[in-house]
Amino acid sequence: GLARILVSACLMGDPVRYDAGHKWLADERLARWKQQGRLVVVCPEVSGGLPTPRPPAEIQQASGAEVLSGRARIVDIEQDDPTEAFLRGAHLALHAAKRHGCRLALLTDGSPSCGSATIYSGDFTGTRREGEGVTAALLRANGVEVFSQHQLEALDRRLAELDSRTG
Ligand code: SF4
Repeated sequence: GLARILVSACLMGDPVRYDAGHKWLADERLARWKQQGRLVVVCPEVSGGLPTPRPPAEIQQASGAEVLSGRARIVDIEQDDPTEAFLRGAHLALHAAKRHGCRLALLTDGSPSCGSATIYSGDFTGTRREGEGVTAALLRANGVEVFSQHQLEALDRRLAELDSRTG
């Protein structure tokens, strides 16, 4: 069958971001994939149990892999620690990817969950740095290829390769 893609819910226009906004990605490829039934839509933070809206949270001085291994935490702007909810959401996203056979993911860059190239600095100054979120790190550690919304062309190519392989 057609290769499936795990997708960040906010890219589909769902108002699930910390500020109850979304990041709707208006792109004909995404619309086509949706129509083809390829998309498995998840919001790790909401499924992990966090409310919407919620205080913005950032990974402290580390990247998603360090949070997964317990060497770093996530702190929100009110100084609360929502790390457990982020971890729960990451594992639920991985579970969904496995259940639906997703070997590809399209995730919102910059997020402490979904970021795959950049995340925020950890001091709430709006500064980005290189790094990945907790969900992106867990998916990659389990063999899922993660793309951001800035890499649709690369994802489209990879999709065509996987489709031709599985026939
Ligand atoms: Fe979007 Fe991911 Fe943040 Fe949910 S956790 S709002 S899907 S970037």
